[in-house]
Parts: sequence; structure tokens; C-alpha cells
Amino acid sequence: MPALGTPAWGSSPEERPSIRRPDESRSAIEIAFSVGVHLRMLRGSVTNVPLAPHRRFVPTFTILPEVSDDVVIVGAGMAGLACARSLTAAGLSVRLLEASDGVGGRVRSDMVDGFRLDRGFQILLTAYPELSRWFDMNALQLRRFQAGATIWTGSTFTTIGDPLRSPKDFPSTLRSPVGSIADKLRLLRLIASVRRGSVPEILRRPDMSTRAKIEKLGFSERFVNQFLQPLFSGIQLDPELEVSSRRFEVIFRMLAIGESAVPAVGMGSLSDILAAGLPRGVVECNRTVAEMDGTTVRLVDGERISARSVVVATQGPSAAHLLKMPDPGSRPVAAIWFDATLDPLRNKKILLDGAQSGPMKNLAILSDVAPEYAPVGRSLCVAAIPGAAALMPDLESSVRTQLEQWHPGSTKWETLRVDVIPHGQPLQLPPLDPRRTVRVGDGRYVCGDHRDTASLQGALFSGRRAAAAVLADLRGSSVN
Ligand SMILES: Cc1cc2nc3c(=O)[nH]c(=O)nc-3n(C[C@H](O)[C@H](O)[C@H](O)COP(=O)(O)OP(=O)(O)OC[C@H]3O[C@@H](n4cnc5c(N)ncnc54)[C@H](O)[C@@H]3O)c2cc1C
Repeated sequence: MPALGTPAWGSSPEERPSIRRPDESRSAIEIAFSVGVHLRMLRGSVTNVPLAPHRRFVPTFTILPEVSDDVVIVGAGMAGLACARSLTAAGLSVRLLEASDGVGGRVRSDMVDGFRLDRGFQILLTAYPELSRWFDMNALQLRRFQAGATIWTGSTFTTIGDPLRSPKDFPSTLRSPVGSIADKLRLLRLIASVRRGSVPEILRRPDMSTRAKIEKLGFSERFVNQFLQPLFSGIQLDPELEVSSRRFEVIFRMLAIGESAVPAVGMGSLSDILAAGLPRGVVECNRTVAEMDGTTVRLVDGERISARSVVVATQGPSAAHLLKMPDPGSRPVAAIWFDATLDPLRNKKILLDGAQSGPMKNLAILSDVAPEYAPVGRSLCVAAIPGAAALMPDLESSVRTQLEQWHPGSTKWETLRVDVIPHGQPLQLPPLDPRRTVRVGDGRYVCGDHRDTASLQGALFSGRRAAAAVLADLRGSSVN
């Protein structure tokens, strides 16, 4: 059974901060406030939302227009869910308002014609420490990619492995026409260097663009174009390699010490597990916050909700709008999901476009890695298109042209879905501050991948940090 990891402050009653539990020792005036809202709920504005136990009807005669739950969280992505889990575990009353029809934000999965499609191609890097804090990793039934990559050179496929982990890949990696022997030795040196460093130490290293870092390490342009650029443009959604080198090195470390995987039942299962651990009624979907005034939010339908604290856990651009903060920028990405009736390669490695032959930078034969993603006897492939190319109008036909070069005539590519995600990740340019404050002031907080690193790790960690800050402030102590 997937389980919540240990909250920073522990979960036994003695360890919890002395904060009022919902409907326990409330003053008459607070109860009256609360009833005002229950009556509004009963009038129909949110009657589709199951009421949390603490918001059940309390008979009293006073009706006031305001309510004050402990915390309103805006946005039920990984950050908002982690924040809500932490706060409810500490005994606070929480309302988690989500604009869309479900939880997960950028981490959701859907069934389409018997195939399991994530919203965009994503993987879970098992070495991210936050994952084992929140999830029972065994219960996720992870399906693992093989380390290394298969690279399309323009005329053939070749393999680059990680000989430190998979010695059998050593001869093919050495023979591969991708990069010189010197490049391969540099790669080994880089793997050894990121394996040695800790994440905090790497995040303190001098920052520059990923491209500048790669040049500094001495890799040949050919090796960059054939291997590093298609690999990291896919992970960082960054074909120009302009993202912070701190981020690049952290990801390299995660790839070197852990595995790349997907849960058997889709990436969206991560969000579902987090949501399942919340008290009933905390999550309210189809509830878009239009603006904020102090710790009061106004929804698009005009309803106002007040709380002692508000946490904005939306993606960067929405947070910038709601909190009137600078926009952290957006890296777009697209994914095209294909029912490839004939598996072209039987390959559990990621496939990279080392020939720079079009907008698709990598391809995964996902059903070879996770058979649960496709009906028996069928192949599910996903093509990833990071960067501005994701927004081009003739995207699908350009990717088909590329695939036709890779597998001339061998496979029938039936498009299942095209996902275009204008905000895939925040920009994360150097200098990267991976631990930006979550306090905005006056009872307002912000979390999400734009406050840390643009990843599941960053989103979960920032959600937990925001929760810790809320608790510390409500208790009158100080936590960063
Ligand atoms: C295609 C793709 C591939 C990726 N690949 C990886 C990967 O391989 N590994 C990895 O670690 N990370 C990856 N990421 C990044 C990772 O998915 C994100 O960093 C993380 O999910 C962000 O979570 P979040 O909670 O910060 O934001 P979000 O998931 O964006 O959640 C924000 C939520 O706020 C809601 N919201 C917004 N505005 C409002 C409003 N006004 N009112 C109410 N609700 C609102 C949104 O609907 C959304 O549900 C990828 C992202 C994408 C898109």
C-alpha cells in the first residue's frame, strides 16, 4: 500500500504543533462564520464537492458571510498535494482548490483506446530523494528503462551505455561512432564527478549555461550534437542547452546513481496516491481562483473564500499573475503518442535523434519498458518534442517525416494523441537559486517547481517547504 513519507515535523499527536483542529475548541463566532459558508454550499455553489467532516452542518442561528479555514491551497499538482498532505497530517483544516477536473497538474494519465497515456512524456528518476519520502517505491511497480541510449546517427542506430553499471555495454559504447574515445573518457569522468558530489554541493558549484559547462568539460561538438543535446533537450525541455549547469549536473547525478522508470499504471498514479491520502472533501476540482486579496481568494464564479493562510501552488505563470510576482518563464513541450502496430526496435533504452533530423529529440517504445501501457500485442511509442518546435503548426507531419527516415516503411504509426504543453517547465536559467523563498508575506505562500528545480523532486520539496513555513508562522516560530 503506497504510504505517505514522514512529514518533516513527525506525525504523532505530541509532535504536532499546537494548532487548533477543525471544529475543536472553536469559538461561537468561528462556528458562526463556518455556518455561513455551509449554508452557501447547501445553496448550491459547491454542492458537487463532498464536504469534509469538519465542514459538516453545525446547527446555530447566526449567519455571517465569511469563513476562515486554516489554509486554502490553490492548485492540486504535486506541490499543492504535498503541501496539503503535510498540513492535514499536522491537523490543519485545508481546502485545496483546483482549476481543472482532476488532481495532478502536469502529472496525469488517461486511458485512450486501451493505451495508457501520460500527459506529455515523463519519467521518474528514482534517485530523487523526495520520491521515497512520499511513496512506497515498491508499491509503484516501477518499470525501468535500460541505462544509456540508442542513437539514430542518420544512417543507423548505435548504443551508448553506462559501463560503470552495465559492463556488457562497454564494447558497444567503445565501438560506437558517436564521439571519440576522448569524449567517452570525458563522459566517464563526468559520471564519476557527479557521483562523488552531493546534491547540495553540486547546487553550490559555479553556475553557467549547460552548453558552457559542456564546452568547459571539453566534449567535441559532434558528441554534443549526437548525444548530450538530444538527451538533455528532452529532460530539460531545452534544445538550446541554456538551462543552469547546476540543474544539468544534478540530473546527470540522478541518471548516474539511480534509474529512469515509470509506474506500471502511469505517472498519474503518483498524484492519485497523494490525493488518496487526504481527508475526504479537501480537494475541490473545477474551482479556478481568479484573484487574491490578502488571504482571501476570489473564484471565477465570484465566490470568495478566506483562510488564515493561502498557499499558491500553481504553475509559475499563474502564480505570477495571482501574486503579482515576476513570471519564471515557460519551456514548451509536445508529445505525440503512437500506436505502432509493429514494434520497430524492441528497445528499453531511450532513443535519441543524434542526426538533428527534426523537431523530435527522443522517442520511447514505452510498451517495451512498461507492457501495462498498451493492450496485449500492441506497441505504444511516444515522441518528445521540447522547446519552441512544440508549438509549430505542422508538428505531427514533421515528426512523421522523421520517423519515416528512422524506420522506412516498417511500421504503421497511428496517432493516439498529440499533447502540446505551452508551460512544460519554468526557464531555470543561470544563476539558479534552487531554494527560493516560499513566503510572500502577510499569510501568503507560494510553492511549485518554479521555487526549486523543475522536476517532481522540486515540486514535492517546495510543497513540503511551504507547509513547514505555514506551520511555523501559525505557531510563531521561524523556519525557512
Ligand atoms: C511533458 C513534461 C515532461 C516532464 N518530464 C519530467 C520528468 O521526466 N521528470 C521530472 O521530474 N519532471 C518532469 N517534468 C516536470 C514536472 O512534471 C513538474 O515539475 C511538476 O509536475 C510540477 O508540479 P507543480 O505542482 O509545481 O505544478 P503543476 O503540476 O503545474 O500544478 C499546478 C496546478 O495548479 C492548477 N492551477 C493553475 N492555476 C490555477 C488557478 N488559478 N486556480 C486553481 N488552480 C490552478 C493547475 O490546474 C495545476 O493542476 C515534466 C513536465 C512536463 C510537462
